[in-house]
Amino acid sequence: MGFDLVDITAKRAELTPHVIAFEDALTGRTLTYAQLDDRCSRAAEVLAELGVVRGDRVAILCRNRIEFFEIMFACAKLDAILVPLNWRSPVGELAGIMADCAPVALVFGREDAEMAAALGAHRKPLALDGGYEAALPTVTPQANVRSWRGDAIWFLSYTSGTTGAPKGVMQTYQMSAVNAFHVTQAFDLRPRDTTLNYLPLFHTAGIQLVTLPTLIAGGTVIVLPAFDEERVMTLMPRLDIFFGVPAIYQQLALNPAFDGADFSRIRTWGCGGAPLPDVLVEKYAAKSVRVCNGYGMTETGPTAFIAAPEDALTKIGSVGKPQMLLDVRIVGTGGNDVADGESGEIWMRGPGLTPGYWDKPEETKKAFAPDGWLRSGDIGRRDADGCYYVAGRIKEMYISGAENVYPAEIENVLARHPSVLEAAVIGVPDEKWGEVGHAFVQLRPGTTAVAPAELIQFCRANLAGYKTPRHVTFVDDFPRTAAGKIRKHLLTPAPNAPSR
Ligand code: ATP
Repeated sequence: MGFDLVDITAKRAELTPHVIAFEDALTGRTLTYAQLDDRCSRAAEVLAELGVVRGDRVAILCRNRIEFFEIMFACAKLDAILVPLNWRSPVGELAGIMADCAPVALVFGREDAEMAAALGAHRKPLALDGGYEAALPTVTPQANVRSWRGDAIWFLSYTSGTTGAPKGVMQTYQMSAVNAFHVTQAFDLRPRDTTLNYLPLFHTAGIQLVTLPTLIAGGTVIVLPAFDEERVMTLMPRLDIFFGVPAIYQQLALNPAFDGADFSRIRTWGCGGAPLPDVLVEKYAAKSVRVCNGYGMTETGPTAFIAAPEDALTKIGSVGKPQMLLDVRIVGTGGNDVADGESGEIWMRGPGLTPGYWDKPEETKKAFAPDGWLRSGDIGRRDADGCYYVAGRIKEMYISGAENVYPAEIENVLARHPSVLEAAVIGVPDEKWGEVGHAFVQLRPGTTAVAPAELIQFCRANLAGYKTPRHVTFVDDFPRTAAGKIRKHLLTPAPNAPSR
């Protein structure tokens, strides 16, 4: 049994009917909470007409738009399960997800109509840009579910697939309630705040950071179809809270308007999802912005750790402390907790964690230790002040001359080189050392050629010898997931050659 969530739109319509819940960043169209609840109740009727009943899955393939949330709340009103699909994925991968969760209906936007047609066989289609609006009943039906059961599944987040085949992480109502509690505390989110929804909605961060907490708090969410650097820069002066992944922070910092931009309204700057290079934190600090680094996983709903603003600059590199409703252990190879300062696997437990993967009891069993501890697969440590540091994924660690090496540390050093924009390091076989580091480097736009030896020397000056990469390949760009993470398994080592 979990703790329940109220029908969010119905409650907000009661409490703050005239407050703007959503604004479309492109058209300026707005919806108040009263209008939102009304439309969601009518959207539930549309889904019911398609045959959707309690427990059914409803797949959705669209860019960020207000109607995504209408369908999401409509699913909640029917106790059905939403399955957001990644519109950047190839059809084969999406077909695999469809086969895994067997949705009854497939909702889609105009940009993805072709893909929807390719996936649609045996699913009831619902076109958001043709049919949906006309299908909304004129009379608002009476809501029949007033609270959403904590342990029921609201949506499935298929993991980004950086390390394997996508798995549907079950996201319950209780997880959303816990996440909203954590985000509200950690980000100092207030009832009339305005936030921006631009992260892709097929990742849990798009829904949970910070859109859903904003709606629960009664604020306003501006919806942008996808990340658009210029528009985000323009919208910044209207925002109270900003959340981004490191790749977004990087991109914004390169924008010509960055140095002169007015960020004064933004109270909290959250970041997470991938390692945050120290230089980036410093770049924002020069503009009096404290970027709070956080750590979480799809499986943790996702907010698990987030640095407090007062620690953001004194503990650079740390992901802060665990959130209120999260227990953490740092577990050594023998299964015991290690002492502060020592590294081990991060284990987490609490009401904000997933009950497991959709229809994958074996995978679920593997992910959790007895007593409900989630094995993160990441290595971390805790310092004497209780702040945590994430070294990286166990799977990405390599062993050079019998020493463990975590690529994130080397990437962080390379990012300090004035010519380097971003770096990714992997372990490659080596006759003498077993494995050595191979760095893939993207140079800053406009920088002149750099020799691999210079970067290797730069690492040698800042890192232990066994951590110094032996090979460098220059790339024009990195293959990335929609959340901006580098897809390291797609990096192919090439011999040392000077940059162009
Ligand atoms: P898949 O499960 O398909 O491999 P994924 O692991 O990228 O995809 P997510 O749940 O999106 O799935 O990402 C969680 C992972 O991201 C964490 O386990 C950790 O490795 C990494 N991560 C998140 N935040 C941070 C951070 N602040 N610093 C370093 N790594 C982070």
